[in-house]
Amino acid sequence: MLGPTPTLIPHPRPPYQPKTNKGAIAAKFLKKRMLTIKDPRRKDVVIAERKAAEEKAKKQVSHVDQVSSSLFFKYNTALGPPYHVLIDTNFINFAIRNKMEIVQGMMDSLYAKCIPCVTDCVIAELEKLGPMFRLALLVARDPRFERLPCTHAGTYADDCLVRRVTQQKCYIVATCDRELKSRIRKIPGVPIMYIARHRFTIERMPEAYGDPKG
Ligand SMILES: [Zn+2]
Repeated sequence: MLGPTPTLIPHPRPPYQPKTNKGAIAAKFLKKRMLTIKDPRRKDVVIAERKAAEEKAKKQVSHVDQVSSSLFFKYNTALGPPYHVLIDTNFINFAIRNKMEIVQGMMDSLYAKCIPCVTDCVIAELEKLGPMFRLALLVARDPRFERLPCTHAGTYADDCLVRRVTQQKCYIVATCDRELKSRIRKIPGVPIMYIARHRFTIERMPEAYGDPKG
């Protein structure tokens, strides 16, 4: 107890230490900086996303311009009798349900010779629908109908018909499908045939060419 009094060596003042744990701060910081694949801070992701958005916008913009259907015959002489009418699956079904003969009904509507055209995918759609639609399939295979071969994959007829009338403006499209009708309406100069009140009706057909309305 009674030893020499220990001399107090002053400790050098420790440097200022904030109370928070440095390691924890670093970890937090790193976590914040850590980038996942989908992290928007990743430059390439940002660029790719921007590109995708631009392409999407471009696609939306590049729709076909609306042109008055009255102008149609000024630049399209491909459409005239005999009319080539592209038939959709449901048009055949509607015609059968209404007990209407397709070739005769078309001629009565347009006062001209009509050649119904059936694509491979329409036939395939009818085949897929099963035995209930055997009669429709029989009608579609009518020898008076022109068969159009398809090169595309799948049996979705709507896209096929839209593509055909976009590429070749020599068809009338016969359909009762509301969605397909509105898609066709966006393509200038393609008349649409449908069934209303037990008769074939045509829209977007200049009066001089047998618009049967009224
Ligand atoms: Zn097709």
